[in-house]
Amino acid sequence: MKDFSPIVMVLLTLGYGADRGAAQSDKWGNPTTQKAEFYAASDVPHSQIELTRQWHETAAKAWGNYGPLEFWIVGSSETAARKLDKRYCGVRKQKDPSLSLKHCLNRGHNFVSYAKDGNAGLNTRRNKNEKWSGFIITMSARRPGPEEEDYKPVVLHEYFHVYQHAHILSRNESVRESLNQKNPWWGEGGAEYMAQLLYSRQEGVRPGYLKETMKRKLRSLKDLRKGENIKDIPYGRRGRISYDLGAWFIAFIISRSSEESYRVRFFKELNSKGFEGAFVKSFGQSSKDLLDEFHNGFLQLDLEEQMKIIP
Ligand SMILES: [Zn+2]
Repeated sequence: MKDFSPIVMVLLTLGYGADRGAAQSDKWGNPTTQKAEFYAASDVPHSQIELTRQWHETAAKAWGNYGPLEFWIVGSSETAARKLDKRYCGVRKQKDPSLSLKHCLNRGHNFVSYAKDGNAGLNTRRNKNEKWSGFIITMSARRPGPEEEDYKPVVLHEYFHVYQHAHILSRNESVRESLNQKNPWWGEGGAEYMAQLLYSRQEGVRPGYLKETMKRKLRSLKDLRKGENIKDIPYGRRGRISYDLGAWFIAFIISRSSEESYRVRFFKELNSKGFEGAFVKSFGQSSKDLLDEFHNGFLQLDLEEQMKIIP
């Protein structure tokens, strides 16, 4: 919802906002030299901010620097998280003066819930109503915390979502959803596999890390129902299955084509050809056919055979 109360604000918004919005929509999807911004709650150690910055840099170097991007890092203090929420809404209002401060402060999933429950997440802002388009990644103190190894691939995972959404130009919600697919198998599978693959290639990461991680994800196979297709599993209670087997599906299509076909070619074709058009052009088969081969062929193989596609 928008809050256009002072008339002068409406004029300012129309005057500057229209131009700014147009300039931004032109740049959306192009790599940028603009640096990511980092904000942290007062109880977040400096080392965690640096750790997050370092892994964002690794990701941006590998996949390109996309933005505008903000990182918001929450600690475990709810009081500090509440203060960070106020700062967050101040930044939102500064970047889009037409935004309602009250609405921002009363939003449901705020930083206090991250302080309580932990987790990481990406909020992509790109629609017809808001002047500011961009990405907001939230990291926290738990699940994963900065002392866990998982924190690093999770930063890469969230940033791969930035890469995915930067390659969808539309401001129309249903178009954006269809290009990234509504269910998690495609978007989450891609973010998870690309994150783990990139992490496994970093200096100091033990050989065998990727095989170990991907083997663990195969445990979800027992939760897949007979005849069930990963593309039909929504976010929620059974979502984990499509994160895990979706990552395997991306590994599978890369083994059938190349990393370049998935990471570069598909996303280049996406806006002009749509999901299915880009899929066929990049992988030489329909998504239905490749999914069928994945379920009826690849997932039926012995573990040893399956592991062969993991570098
Ligand atoms: Zn994700």
